[in-house]
Amino acid sequence: MKIAVASGKGGTGKTSISASLVLARPENLALDLDVEEPNLSILLGAFEGGVLPVTMPIARIEGSKCVECGKCARSCVFGAIAWMGAGFPVINDSLCRGCGLCPRVCPTEAIYEEDQTVGEVRSGTCGGIPFLEGRLRVGSVNTVRVIEETVKKAKAFNRPDWLMDCPPGTACPVAASLRHADMALLVTEPTPFGRSDLEGMLELTADMNIPTALVINKTGIGDLSLDDLCTRFGVEVLARYPFSRSAAECGARGESPFKTDAGWAEITRTLWSRIERRYS
Ligand code: SF4
Ligand code: SF4
Repeated sequence: MKIAVASGKGGTGKTSISASLVLARPENLALDLDVEEPNLSILLGAFEGGVLPVTMPIARIEGSKCVECGKCARSCVFGAIAWMGAGFPVINDSLCRGCGLCPRVCPTEAIYEEDQTVGEVRSGTCGGIPFLEGRLRVGSVNTVRVIEETVKKAKAFNRPDWLMDCPPGTACPVAASLRHADMALLVTEPTPFGRSDLEGMLELTADMNIPTALVINKTGIGDLSLDDLCTRFGVEVLARYPFSRSAAECGARGESPFKTDAGWAEITRTLWSRIERRYS
């Protein structure tokens, strides 16, 4: 089973819970798809393995061949080519998706594509656990490309069970991760921000038709009820982790509370048995 651990916002403890689930079932392939800020490996242990670059083709214009017709700018649906009605067009690298259309429409073959590194994938083991991590290059915006490449490499591991630590939020990066999941585990907290962002995530997983369950973290930090959302979206709360100073201190030290907090570890084991009973 491929499980996506996601949250509508950052700071809910998603990665702590992902790491705990992996440590409790180390036969899972651990995937860090939070490529803008990957930190799952810190909680799992020492990384051993290799690093592979993630590239994508970016359009380039050869000025000497351009007849300044503007066809390329009119054809790019991503708005990556600026043309002022005369002169050479200018390509914005960070908006180009490498779709390959503009080289085809250019009448003089003035446009070519050049591979650009947009990130990397670390592949190997972390604390002895099979592990893959996508990492977006600083300054690059091609988050989805790095996620897709990480998932592609994960398929080559030939492991049936994945635990994916997904990007926070409800935008394209999390959707690109969720589409590989058999179930989504949404981590939230009982606060107004937590509730609001959870609602967005529940709408997303419902639209994508992904079986979904909740984990409420930091119970006690707020008292907002999520029962009406559970009823509306037909989801169940599988675990509640109390707000704990020791868990927060563990995170600050770069350790997983699963290794140091017996109560936290017990909740994680119960969470696994509930997942396996209901979704396997
Ligand atoms: S390759 Fe596609 S996305 Fe990039 S500039 Fe050309 S048309 Fe736009
Ligand atoms: S389509 Fe080709 S020739 Fe026309 S403006 Fe673009 S690069 Fe220049």
